[in-house]
Amino acid sequence: MSDIIAAISTALAPSGIGIIRMSGFGCAETAEQILTPVYGKPLSRSEPRKLCLYDLRDRQDRVIDRILAVQTPGPDSYTGEDTVELQCHGSPAVLAEALANLFSLGARQALPGEFTKRAFLNGRMDLTAAEAVIDLIEAETADAAANAAGQVGGALLRRLQPVYDALLSVMSHFHAVLDYPDEDIGEFELNSYGALLRAQRDSLNVLLNTADRGRVVKNGVRAVILGRPNAGKSSLLNALAGYERVIVTDIPGTTRDTVEEKIRLGSLVLRLTDTAGIHESEDVVEALGIDRSRDAFNKADLVLLLLDSSRPLSEADLALMEAAEGRPCIAVLNKTDLPPCVAESDIRSRLKTAQIVSTSLLDDEGAEPLKDAMEALITGGKVRREEDILVSNSRHIQLLKNALAELKEAEAMTQRNEAIDFLEVNVNAAFGYLGEITGDTASGEIIDAVFERFCLGK
Ligand code: GDP
Repeated sequence: MSDIIAAISTALAPSGIGIIRMSGFGCAETAEQILTPVYGKPLSRSEPRKLCLYDLRDRQDRVIDRILAVQTPGPDSYTGEDTVELQCHGSPAVLAEALANLFSLGARQALPGEFTKRAFLNGRMDLTAAEAVIDLIEAETADAAANAAGQVGGALLRRLQPVYDALLSVMSHFHAVLDYPDEDIGEFELNSYGALLRAQRDSLNVLLNTADRGRVVKNGVRAVILGRPNAGKSSLLNALAGYERVIVTDIPGTTRDTVEEKIRLGSLVLRLTDTAGIHESEDVVEALGIDRSRDAFNKADLVLLLLDSSRPLSEADLALMEAAEGRPCIAVLNKTDLPPCVAESDIRSRLKTAQIVSTSLLDDEGAEPLKDAMEALITGGKVRREEDILVSNSRHIQLLKNALAELKEAEAMTQRNEAIDFLEVNVNAAFGYLGEITGDTASGEIIDAVFERFCLGK
């Protein structure tokens, strides 16, 4: 039987309400010791799942708040145990005192994620659903929330379960054959195993193919602004950010470091890195060799290459175009308010797949065409239908890759007519990786690591 845990589940700042959560056998009896019913019964005898009004008392028995409280007896609660929620006014002092009072009565501080961990351990949710809870809390856009909410509802488990079950049945066949070695396995059977493994691989591949979009929806789009000094990189960052985020100057090389800015673009979050002026030498290409700038360039989902249309293309421009060719890229032909020296065709011949957008960043609305182009380019990352699922958790992505590699090897063995003993090793490994995703075969350390990411009170 687990002990009674309690935590403040809402942010600690003066606010309309603040909620304390409790879980563990008999927690309503503990909580009612600091609650006087305004009408009706003590909390433990109140109607389950029904909010009732109470006076909340401090350790000196003074009334410090009038609150709503609710009890949900286990096992049909979030954690699977008896739970209580105290909805106080959102005064950090009230919440801290109420919590201290509960601790004095035997409850203890819940660890980060401990409520959800108990839910997982009590079989209320699988590990994919539990992990999606933290993604939901951290979601920065409605799309990210929709994807996480789908997984809290079991969307990923529903996709993995048939594969998991199929591998389980393959393994039980293998074991039957291995236990009765006299029954030789025919080539026909080996072929049918191969086909079955291939089908599981296809299902997992479909999931893994959503990972790029999943990452964009969850983490936002990493974009890097490149361009030679004075092309207008800082102006662009400011125009996109909507306020003066960095100092704009006409002295080349004044921004001596990369500047990062998180901005919202329609339904997406854009994490922009401006490499402006990292190079005092004015050699922007060399700057790509400087760690931070190169790192931003390598990791970027999108390259914004800024070119000054009022000056002929320089060596640096050409080299940057060469570096960006083949990457998802928008070439921004800036300063179109000045007499042109560069035509779109000069860029098109070098950046074959990039989009080209003309801007004048002196104009307040100058970045609008670029915003539209970026949104259009990236909206492939949207969650379109409710049942759509995007794999967005890096742990899941790695485990899916591992499982796929094992299945590929096993399938190849069926083609080479290898002995079942060998095949079994790979299928078993794939099975283990899938189990790590769902939690079925995850070790204690893995489970602890998952829940360490959580905040207090969840
Ligand atoms: P960076 O070195 O690439 O970061 O460039 P900045 O954003 O600091 O801009 C360099 C200079 O170009 C500043 O004087 C800006 O005001 C100017 N500038 C930026 N965009 C435009 C534009 O569209 N038209 C004109 N005429 N000047 C611009």
